[in-house]
Amino acid sequence: MKKLVFATNNAHKLDEIRAILGDKIEILSLNDINCHTDIPETADTLQGNAALKAQYIYENYGLDCFADDTGLEVEALNGAPGIYSARYAGGEGHDSEANMKKLLSEMQDKDNRKARFRTVICLIEGGKERFFEGIVNGSIIRERKGGSGFGYDPVFMPDGYSETFAEMGNDEKNKISHRAKAVQKLCEYINK
Ligand code: IMP
Repeated sequence: MKKLVFATNNAHKLDEIRAILGDKIEILSLNDINCHTDIPETADTLQGNAALKAQYIYENYGLDCFADDTGLEVEALNGAPGIYSARYAGGEGHDSEANMKKLLSEMQDKDNRKARFRTVICLIEGGKERFFEGIVNGSIIRERKGGSGFGYDPVFMPDGYSETFAEMGNDEKNKISHRAKAVQKLCEYINK
């Protein structure tokens, strides 16, 4: 069976893609290939960061691979937090409580609440790069709602819904999310 490395150890992301591609392609994680490096994400775009991670694997392990990068882009904040979504409130990053607190405070006096999540996937196959993008449009509400999901889910309400990502639960979220859309495009390409 053909093998493809997904440059992540995030169990949720691995489950999601294995559910779609599992019977056609073996998806290997960073742990599976014994890569324990914290691959630097120093580019200034989502596309650049996804490419850096995929290039690292391709150059050091010679394996076909893909990597993703995601950001929350808020219109009234000129696209922030964007590539800085994980570490918006500073520190090492991934402190969702602190990140949401900062976002709600920055948005306190803003009437334009429009925002979107955007995921970019970079696939490197035989040395050739291809990109797949997924976007979900929505808005930033004024107070957190819901307890499932992760990151900014409690403050993001997708357009056409009256629940935040954190209220709708993973199954429903994973049908309409930015990441699901990007993964779907990647899978359509691979399955062709
Ligand atoms: P990553 O590139 O998937 O690691 O995402 C970077 C950051 O964006 C995460 O640390 C979260 O703060 C935020 N983020 C990404 N995807 C989601 C999502 O589906 N819901 C809420 N926040 C997300």
